[in-house]
Amino acid sequence: MTQASPRHTPMMQQYLRIKADYPDVLMFYRMGDFYELFYEDARRAAELLDITLTQRGESAGAPIPMAGVPVHSYEGYLARLLARGESVAICEQTGDPASSKGPVEREVVRVVTPGTLTDEALLQERRSNLLTAVAGSAEHWGLASLELAAGRYSVCEGRGESALSAELERLAPAELLVADDLADSPAWAERSGVKRRPPWHFEFDAAQRTLTEHFGTRDLAGFGLASLPLATAAAGAVMEYVADTQRSALPHIRHVHVEQTESAIAIDAASRRNLELETNLGGGDAHTLAAVLDTTVCGMGSRALRRWINRPLKDQDELRSRQNAIETLLSGGHAGIRDCLRRAADVERIVARIGLGSARPRDLTGLRETLAMLPDLCACLDGIDDPKLQSLAEHAAPCPAIAEHLSRALIEQPPVVIRDGGVIAEGFDAELDELRALSRNADGFLTELEQREREATGISTLKVSYNRVHGFYIEISRGQSEQAPEHYIRRQTLKGAERYITPELKEFEDKVLSARERALAREKALYEALVGWLAERLPRLMDLAAALAELDALAALAERAETLNYQRPLLDSNPGISITAGRHPVVEQSTDGPFIANDISLDDDRRMLIITGPNMGGKSTYMRQVALITLMAHIGSFVPADAARFGPIDRIFTRIGASDDLAGGRSTFMVEMTETANILHNATHESLVLLDEIGRGTSTFDGLALAWATAEALCERIGAYTLFATHYFEMTALPAHHSRAANVHLEAAEHKERIVFLHSVREGPASQSYGLQVAALAGVPAPVLKKARAKLAQLEANDGPAPQLSLFSAPAPAPQAEPEPASEAAAALVEQIAEIDPDAISPREAHALIYEWRALIDAAAKSSGRVG
Ligand code: ADP
Repeated sequence: MTQASPRHTPMMQQYLRIKADYPDVLMFYRMGDFYELFYEDARRAAELLDITLTQRGESAGAPIPMAGVPVHSYEGYLARLLARGESVAICEQTGDPASSKGPVEREVVRVVTPGTLTDEALLQERRSNLLTAVAGSAEHWGLASLELAAGRYSVCEGRGESALSAELERLAPAELLVADDLADSPAWAERSGVKRRPPWHFEFDAAQRTLTEHFGTRDLAGFGLASLPLATAAAGAVMEYVADTQRSALPHIRHVHVEQTESAIAIDAASRRNLELETNLGGGDAHTLAAVLDTTVCGMGSRALRRWINRPLKDQDELRSRQNAIETLLSGGHAGIRDCLRRAADVERIVARIGLGSARPRDLTGLRETLAMLPDLCACLDGIDDPKLQSLAEHAAPCPAIAEHLSRALIEQPPVVIRDGGVIAEGFDAELDELRALSRNADGFLTELEQREREATGISTLKVSYNRVHGFYIEISRGQSEQAPEHYIRRQTLKGAERYITPELKEFEDKVLSARERALAREKALYEALVGWLAERLPRLMDLAAALAELDALAALAERAETLNYQRPLLDSNPGISITAGRHPVVEQSTDGPFIANDISLDDDRRMLIITGPNMGGKSTYMRQVALITLMAHIGSFVPADAARFGPIDRIFTRIGASDDLAGGRSTFMVEMTETANILHNATHESLVLLDEIGRGTSTFDGLALAWATAEALCERIGAYTLFATHYFEMTALPAHHSRAANVHLEAAEHKERIVFLHSVREGPASQSYGLQVAALAGVPAPVLKKARAKLAQLEANDGPAPQLSLFSAPAPAPQAEPEPASEAAAALVEQIAEIDPDAISPREAHALIYEWRALIDAAAKSSGRVG
């Protein structure tokens, strides 16, 4: 790095001195109307932002690479840098250019990092932006998360890498702090925004000191942190980082909340992705549960609802109280409440900026408008007979004192920034009014003075003027200067004129010359005082924000229930899941045709469904809908079904799809095995487990063996609520061995040799032959189909449980190579099948061939689309 040395120009010496404290972040160095970047920073920014890299003079004998962005539009550039994971130190001119010798004083006023954003322009309205730290080790970890833009600060502790990775997937932090000496972990290996920090930032003692100091408490027991040293350490690291980057007090972080991992339904990282709660598998927002449910009308309500979606609860009492509130809202009122909330600004974030001292004029008018809306909201909630809504109404009660103060203080539509003034209203402050009047009336006063002096002196050439160097003066032409009265004090002699000052003019000058500046300074001070005055009322305003957010989330769920015909699910302590006429909340919105509703009933006698049926028949839709309905019930929402009941649920697991995320470099099979192992280790009799086509990542026999063993363990040893979709027809024999397992299938019908998917779930196993129809759809030649049919019939003839079980002792065929492209693989297989002598082939070889072939046509069918 370039070092500050006496060979540099004074300005570059200053730059390099400041930059030395921020080696890892880009520095925006304020120079007039630009933020400039120099040296390596300039090169990086030029590349990332696609802006011109230029040079600025020379320093220490070499040209200085430079790139810059205009101050008035810097936010867009900043946003782009942050999106690329960069952090930026903002270095402002803090001294007065007029009075400073050498370069004007500058200092870094804050460091903007991806996880600590609070500027409205840099935040996504409907997504929370979190800074998270992990302390301890992957075996036993503590996690702390801070949403600086809301003051929401929470911690938890847990064990094991997969639980950690599940939490990180849930929180999706923009920035993750990890100690330098902590070993790399797969839990965050693929996450962006990981920042290494010095180990001492994660020390328990230091953390305790930082936190007690911040909260002004003797210890942390009051927050429930007494027995959570790792969570405390992580919380300390977060605070340390925020203090380093924000350089301002953080009064809006009022407490730290301990999140009990046991109080939420656990969803591991892969399952969370599979269920497409907030983000779809392609990384977008469309066709997700959040996209269907989130009709909230303000940003903070949206973020609250999304927090619920991401953290379904086990606590049935809390869930019932949300259901009650939704029911009450449904019986009248949600539309009116939503109309009111539409007028609310993002008070949660505004209040955070008030706390940080960075609130802008329009934040305050947003708050003012929100406060003005409260009486109407209050009227909507008046007389409502529901404990939750009543308590929200109390927190959302009007605050006339604050509303009135803001109304008096601010003009109707202030500019974006306070910089040029024009924000504080007339009549709010007498001194400001006087200063403004002075600068406004200056012109009038001067004309009047000129008139008066001319008359008094009788000098016709007398005029009153102003210049920057001499200020106000009276000018009289040389010819008439003799007649200047005694009390005129000579200021300047020009060729054709004399200039004078009088005590009256001098006094006026003192008042007026700086009136504008003084008005601006006064206005800035008043504004700061106003923000400070509001900061003193933070607790009240934060409660208000939380209440509005929750009301918005509940009202949205009520609106959804009404619009989409959702029903209230029953939650009780009897084991089981039962859904009557359930629908997939997302597919039902996007499908062209009618959505076919299906039932499910699982209880102690029926714990597992083996689901078979043709490809495209609706197996995975059915399974996912059960998971999504279960999840919706556990955020307090009504559900897309005629009726539903849930006993206690502790976890949701999914192992879905063979198109797996190979992004991480692991093979499909490895992914499948890791996820299956995770399920077998962690599922309990209260878990909901969805398994789709497990075993497909490996050879037929290994795959079947694996599927069978997994199903058996889940059904017998664990007793989880399990939905098991499979292409291994052998699996349909499982219920014969395990009474708690049952077969169901997705119905389809044949019509003119074509298959018609009915999408309805029926008892019993599917008829195998549909595989062949799908194959026909996929273009497998007729002779091959015929031969396959014959072979299947032959296999079915000596079917029964015994041959399946014998598979386990059969030597596994050599592992298959990577699947070839479908057409080539199909051709090779067709050739192979054509050469088969149906009487000479062993059942084992036949199975292997048929499954291989079936996998192929499944793939072909999937890609050829649905036929209905
Ligand atoms: P499978 O898992 O059996 O291959 P999918 O669940 O992927 O089948 O369903 C295939 C398509 O069929 C879905 O994309 C959806 O459009 C449609 N579908 C599935 N279930 C239903 C249903 N119950 N009602 C209407 N359409 C459905």
